[in-house]
Amino acid sequence: MKDNFDRDIHYLRLSVTDKCNLRCIYCVPETGVPKKRHEDILTVEEINEIVQAAASCGIKKVRITGGEPLVRRGIIDICKFIAGADGISEVCLTTNGIALPEFASGLKAAGVNRLNISLDTLDRKTYNKITRTDLLEAALHGVDIAIKTGFDAIKINAVLIGGMNESDIWRLLDFTKKYKVDVRFIELMPIGECADWAKEKFVSSQIVLKTAPELVETGMQGVSKLYKFPDALGTVGLISPISSHFCPTCNRIRITADGILKPCLHSAEEINLRGLHGDALENVIKDAILGKPEKHKLCRGDRLPLTNHPPLEGKGRRNMNEIGG
Ligand code: SAM
Repeated sequence: MKDNFDRDIHYLRLSVTDKCNLRCIYCVPETGVPKKRHEDILTVEEINEIVQAAASCGIKKVRITGGEPLVRRGIIDICKFIAGADGISEVCLTTNGIALPEFASGLKAAGVNRLNISLDTLDRKTYNKITRTDLLEAALHGVDIAIKTGFDAIKINAVLIGGMNESDIWRLLDFTKKYKVDVRFIELMPIGECADWAKEKFVSSQIVLKTAPELVETGMQGVSKLYKFPDALGTVGLISPISSHFCPTCNRIRITADGILKPCLHSAEEINLRGLHGDALENVIKDAILGKPEKHKLCRGDRLPLTNHPPLEGKGRRNMNEIGG
């Protein structure tokens, strides 16, 4: 359905857990994900009811995320229900790849069309620093299995972090030459763990074009500006929420693992869906879509200097593992 700014909102990012098997420095506290009570997290039945209600409000595409969705018990059944829900035509899942050897074929059979695999670096030392784990090989094995499983599309998402993974950009770019995989470089957003980080950590996605000036621009795909190396198998995309905001084309809402609807990632506005059923649930989702802010709080002007922003405080200050990236 259309929101008040004539945007067609048809994309739901649904977090099914806030737990993760990695502890990325910009996403999860060093001490790990704070423990939530089992009953604080949406049950499978609640997830199903919310997705069906969202579909009745015009949601067609669902991205299952977290936390790490593959550590959620019953993830295959959750995917199967969502893929079979009336009105849902596309189901994607975002993962760090570690558990893909166990789950890839089950996900495909359950109806997951596309995978996004988060991989910020191919350098082991940098990977260990970013994720606080030594699991690069497992993640790469996950990517390999995903490619062999034959999903409609596989994207590798790399968040750019100043002083950390810039020197590894070319190795990630190389993936698109060797495999039919799309690599997306994403600007780090000042959320949760990294909200107060120094300005130098926030790198413009333009750095990718400086690394590889031979990339040829080929158009847009959603919020990604696309490029390609001549004769490459996959594309390269730049996602630039900070240096060039894309609120006018935003088409999504988010629901956290504890049942909170966030109409905008960067707004403190939150609507609790738990305990709502039937028409009441649908009406609240419709109102949330209509009430989606025109621009997020990081966009005071048309183009912001990187990180000249006020971090959210209080309950709006959630980490991405809670919101669902
Ligand atoms: N565990 C899954 C994964 O690793 O893809 C799904 C959840 S994770 C929160 C989803 C995505 O959010 C990851 O690609 C991660 O890099 C990204 N992310 C987390 N915090 C971010 C931030 N502050 N700015 C930009 N992207 C962020």
